[in-house]
Amino acid sequence: MEERKDFGDLEREVIEMGKCALCGGCVATCRLLDYGYLSVDFSEERPRIIEGLQCPPGCGYCYYQCPRVEKPELKEGLEEIYEVGSKDEEIRKACQNGCVATSLLASALADAIVEGCITVADKGEGVPEVRVAMDKSGLIKCADSKYTPAATLTGIADAILNYGLWSTALVGTPCQMAAYAKMLDVGRDTHNAHNFSSNVRLRIGLFCSGTYSYEKLMKEYLERKRGINISEITKLAISDDVLHVYAGDKELLSAGINEIEDCKREGCKVCEDFTGLFSDISVGNTSTPAGKSAVIIHTDFGKEVFESALEWGFIEAKPIDKSGADLIHRLQNEKKEAGIAEKDI
Ligand code: SF4
Ligand code: SF4
Ligand code: SF4
Repeated sequence: MEERKDFGDLEREVIEMGKCALCGGCVATCRLLDYGYLSVDFSEERPRIIEGLQCPPGCGYCYYQCPRVEKPELKEGLEEIYEVGSKDEEIRKACQNGCVATSLLASALADAIVEGCITVADKGEGVPEVRVAMDKSGLIKCADSKYTPAATLTGIADAILNYGLWSTALVGTPCQMAAYAKMLDVGRDTHNAHNFSSNVRLRIGLFCSGTYSYEKLMKEYLERKRGINISEITKLAISDDVLHVYAGDKELLSAGINEIEDCKREGCKVCEDFTGLFSDISVGNTSTPAGKSAVIIHTDFGKEVFESALEWGFIEAKPIDKSGADLIHRLQNEKKEAGIAEKDI
């Protein structure tokens, strides 16, 4: 019988090879999750087990769960692309971007499709924090884009253990959507006692060109190189290849993203997914005017949720024009090719 691999193999084959996406999937499915055996070490942006402990023989849930060990299988390939705006006044007033994803989630909560939403807030100084939002005000606090990594799948455990939720929305990057798909692929019997695979009802992916190392972007580039007091920063935004840094309404910096290319996480360089192929619905601000987002429906269930949000008056939508769809396809293809090329180096 073939010997099962374990966390040591995950370290050697994925983490130390610079392929880890920091999705949090391995932590969420660790057999000894309840003992905090495996956790994310944010200072080094990697998963780590408690020093000096040995994993139980024949375990390896973390290894087989990792989407970077073997890609999950894509099950549905629906693709309908829309240009979408939020119709919810409260959300539009509060969110400078992220209105559409927030509106879809608010609709799913209102329609009782989900009980809570696993998403990410900025807890200050650009530090991302995984949260479970239970209502619209909780969602609004998490609305703005984040550019440093959050191990969002750890929120699945939080939603069950600390909130008692069995029906949630998971919002995250394409790698996190793939990690969740891998959980479903690997199968329930190999998960830990909480059977996480049945917990997430709705998956909302966010278009992603890459995330940046917190240490390199916030500390080395913004604080040391640009002399910005990072405790003053209230928001980072990237649009049209320009990084904007704000303190309230004041713009502290605008710089081309080529300046921060070296800050990108290693694990993003091998990534092949821009649009979130493993989500039910994905959202991004590519090829749309200000205040609108592109939305791609990937599954029949995603379509139901989207139509419900239209019916409830949370969003308005029209099919995206051909040039918008072409640009999204081009960016998806370019990312796929770049990821494959990087793996071959
Ligand atoms: S899942 Fe098993 S092998 Fe992996 S870190 Fe947890 S105890 Fe160790
Ligand atoms: S990619 Fe995700 S599952 Fe794989 S090692 Fe990194 S955090 Fe764990
Ligand atoms: S570029 Fe890929 S690996 Fe990096 S955060 Fe985005 S989806 Fe994840």
